[in-house]
Amino acid sequence: MDLKKTTLNYQPAISEAIRRVLDSGWYILGEEGKAFEKEFATYCGCRHCIGTGNGLDALTVLLTACRILYHWDEMTQVIVPAHTFIATVESIVRSGLTPILCDVDADDSLIDPQQVESCISPRTRAIVCVHLYGKIAPITSLNTIAQKNGLLLLEDAAQAHGAIHPSGNKAGHLGHGAAFSFYPTKNLGALGDGGAITTDNQSLADLCRQLANYGQTEKYHHLHKGMNTRLDEIQAAILRTRLKSLDKENTHRQSIARQYMDCISHPDIRMPYKGVFPQDSVWHIFPIYSPRRNELQRYLAHHNIDTLIHYPVPPHLQPAFQEYSHLSFPCTEQICQEELSLPLNPLMTNQETEYIIQTINRFPC
Ligand SMILES: *Cc1c(COP(=O)(O)O)cnc(C)c1O
Repeated sequence: MDLKKTTLNYQPAISEAIRRVLDSGWYILGEEGKAFEKEFATYCGCRHCIGTGNGLDALTVLLTACRILYHWDEMTQVIVPAHTFIATVESIVRSGLTPILCDVDADDSLIDPQQVESCISPRTRAIVCVHLYGKIAPITSLNTIAQKNGLLLLEDAAQAHGAIHPSGNKAGHLGHGAAFSFYPTKNLGALGDGGAITTDNQSLADLCRQLANYGQTEKYHHLHKGMNTRLDEIQAAILRTRLKSLDKENTHRQSIARQYMDCISHPDIRMPYKGVFPQDSVWHIFPIYSPRRNELQRYLAHHNIDTLIHYPVPPHLQPAFQEYSHLSFPCTEQICQEELSLPLNPLMTNQETEYIIQTINRFPC
């Protein structure tokens, strides 16, 4: 993804947004932030949106608010997919809760509802699902499980801005609360760090807002031990202009993905699971899977095609989470060995997509 190209493409609007903030003389918790929160809440179909400094903080504030609001103790367990970016797991630990890793489905790389059921204990209080690669997690099954067991369903929507579930609800409005990241490469990206929480729950929203601002109820009155994580005015102003193009960009991502799906054909490559509802993925990442992944990556690099791996090492095998190293999650581990992310960004041309497809199809067997 060429961020400079993307930024230049929106240069006049972005410059205008930055200038507006410069001229306002107000840089933290001001009108731009308020306006973005309102616009993003409306976009997601949610009542409330709270800006944060980044996605990890959005998750942490959301989970901490749940812990306080629902009186969870430090033994409380939260189920989370074993295959995700490290932040999802880290936020649970940072909130004083215990992550219970759950393996994912081999077809779509998303948390496997059947395995979620076997992770539930008397101490479980919540499931954090991740809409990984931009595809909505199996929400209907997860909701049924959550309701049957009295659990909260929370969303890590950092990769899925604008994805639509067949029910018509968008990512960010599919559970009790959701967290987003606006890291520059995300589908909705700032030119720096940023994040947000969305929810329909007024008490949860109020508490998140306090926690993100030193636990303040009013200036210099601190009800809770909070943190300092706020979406600054410049990033909010930039995000307001970028939000206007999100649907158009997601549609373009979907058309590139369709082209990849229709035209890539190789005996050593497995394509991502399509599903039946095309809008339930905004293709933050286009993953393909191959037992010859490393060889394929070198071959593509040799032909000037940059690829990435999401992710080479799962959280439970990271040195930072040694306490989980005895566990094994076969699907997660296989995905980490076989996944390769093809180029996919809103400025990609037909020609580029076709070149990539042809090169892949010629990968020597
Ligand atoms: C990017 C990302 C995050 C963290 O967002 P930051 O803004 O980088 O803190 C969390 N979860 C997932 C799935 C992500 O992709």
